[in-house]
Amino acid sequence: MRQSILFTKTQKEAPKGEVARNAILLIRAGYIYKEMAGVYAYLPLGLRVFRNIERIIREEMDAVGGQELLLTSLQSQAVWEKTGRWSDDVIDNWFKTKLVDETPLGIASTHEEPLTNLLTHYASSHRDFPLYIYQFQTKFRNELRAKSGIMRGREFVMKDLYSFCRNEEEHAAFYARMKEAYTNVFKRVGIGEQTYFTYASGGSFSKASDEFQTVTDAGEDTIYIDEETRFSINEEMLDDEASLKKFNLSKEKLVAKKSAEVGNIFPLGTKFSEAFGLMYRDESGNEKPVIMGSYGIGLGRVMGTIVEVCADEKGLRWPHEVAPFSAHLVRLGDSETVLTAAEKTYEELLRAGKEIFYDDRKGVSAGEKLADADLLGMPMRIVVSEKTIAANAVEFRDRMDRRVSMVPYGEVFARIGT
Ligand code: ATP
Ligand code: MG
Repeated sequence: MRQSILFTKTQKEAPKGEVARNAILLIRAGYIYKEMAGVYAYLPLGLRVFRNIERIIREEMDAVGGQELLLTSLQSQAVWEKTGRWSDDVIDNWFKTKLVDETPLGIASTHEEPLTNLLTHYASSHRDFPLYIYQFQTKFRNELRAKSGIMRGREFVMKDLYSFCRNEEEHAAFYARMKEAYTNVFKRVGIGEQTYFTYASGGSFSKASDEFQTVTDAGEDTIYIDEETRFSINEEMLDDEASLKKFNLSKEKLVAKKSAEVGNIFPLGTKFSEAFGLMYRDESGNEKPVIMGSYGIGLGRVMGTIVEVCADEKGLRWPHEVAPFSAHLVRLGDSETVLTAAEKTYEELLRAGKEIFYDDRKGVSAGEKLADADLLGMPMRIVVSEKTIAANAVEFRDRMDRRVSMVPYGEVFARIGT
């Protein structure tokens, strides 16, 4: 992609009223646009990062046998009455609306009820299960505070998967596979090292849940880590002696860190299947309720967390698998020689199947172009200038470790991933 045609521009100044570092950098770099507090649009470069995160999650969900669908944002009161969760006293951050004839509607904040209800129309035999169903869907939540940029949106896309199993063993086996799948996701998006499997409370669904928490000062949670085992426990469970004992944790060994919940997995038991009558007949014809689990990841939460963990004082730094482009080709100078060499390099890299962002803008100073490349944060910067042409090479710079090297022209392709 040519930078000259991109409608977004970088900004030197931090946007007014924005306090979250992830949002400040992403807005300055033109990755997102703030519509209002907690509500952000994804612009072309930001959308490429978002899509990469989505692709990684989708690949991991498909690998464990997930089936993707897309549920609705408008939800029925009758469906939610079945579990008693329609009331604002139970879910306090729900946006609701009304049809012209005054019929109340819910605006999706989660999907346990509609999906369980939907499945009663399709599955009833032991042969129909297990089922693992997921979606990437916009959730709306009237969050009290929206000061964490895209890490806490009032409108945000979540990957939510729900599992439907026939017995506890089947459920436990799948739960363990999801734990692996989540570990893969966070490793692939570039925050594996900072992300800890965390024992947490279960809220309204169950006694306990498991969270994936990424260590960052921008997080709203506190976890206590045992570095030896990489196991951690959420602050909310720290005073629960039974939990400490269960996981063989001693308080003195644990180190407190601020963290962001990037994903969580929950056993749901039979609460929803019983409410909707999602039963199956086993081989002997006995009716049994399905055992459920739910598994969420917020895409904006993950993208914001990557920014918080990876960015430096000059700007964004994208891990390779989520970067909008593998490399930023920067042309310094507008002379005929430089123009020809840079265009040739761009065309050849494209032909070799590389994803390249090409700064082909004319009349922009070298300093400004290099500062923009730092702010935009592609993993590799490739400079073509009078100087590099004279050396029959291009200059490479790794955005993560900042190492600079002159690479002979013939070796350029091998140095960039796709
Ligand atoms: P939190 O305690 O952070 O509000 P939650 O307990 O409400 O999270 P879930 O409802 O289980 O979280 O949502 C699953 C995942 O969706 C979370 O692990 C997180 O990654 C993401 N998520 C939750 N709320 C938001 C939000 N307001 N904006 C962006 N992502 C979110
Ligand atoms: Mg919440």
